[in-house]
Amino acid sequence: MFSSMEVRRQVLEAAREISSSGMVIGTWGNVSARATETEGFVITPSGMDYAVLTPEDMVVVDYNRQVIEGKFRPSSETPLHLAIYLARPDVQAIVHVHSPFATAFAVAGIPIPVILEETAQAIGHEIAVVPYARTGTRKLAEYTVKTLGEKGCAALLSNHGVIGVGGSMAQALRICYVIEQTAQVGLYARMLGPLQGLPEDEVNLLHAGFQKYGQKK
Ligand SMILES: [Zn+2]
Repeated sequence: MFSSMEVRRQVLEAAREISSSGMVIGTWGNVSARATETEGFVITPSGMDYAVLTPEDMVVVDYNRQVIEGKFRPSSETPLHLAIYLARPDVQAIVHVHSPFATAFAVAGIPIPVILEETAQAIGHEIAVVPYARTGTRKLAEYTVKTLGEKGCAALLSNHGVIGVGGSMAQALRICYVIEQTAQVGLYARMLGPLQGLPEDEVNLLHAGFQKYGQKK
């Protein structure tokens, strides 16, 4: 008997998506979401091909970092996911990718400014760079939580990649896509001249508007 089947499906689907969309190569990157029927979160197993996995292969880890369901080892970035869930009750899902344009900024140690309407709407803040710490360590988890702060929804991991957090899996995925698009446009724009970020009040307005955007009921 497995718990949180719907969450397991969502996590696996998102993991397949980051791989098929080119945001990671092979088994790099990882995805998690809070479990619904137990305390803890559902996370992708470590180093396994997402294409052949089933929802039952996902691993459930509690907030003491104990595996409570699953026959495989959880992602090597489990300490990072755990620290974010503990620090941020608003976060329901986390997506970590190595998408190339955003990672270029992470390697250069340059934050991605809010330069597009989408960046303002979906993210609402510059994507800051987390100081370097080795992948899988508590130090990386600690630095990332500090950089995300109380409201941040994304950060760049130095010489590594991107982390996006959201109130749903769809939101966490969208954040990663928007960051990659912003980084790509930002990199090309930097070849033409300095980047012109949107003014802060405009960013705040666009971001607030986006929370209400959609079909009125
Ligand atoms: Zn990674």
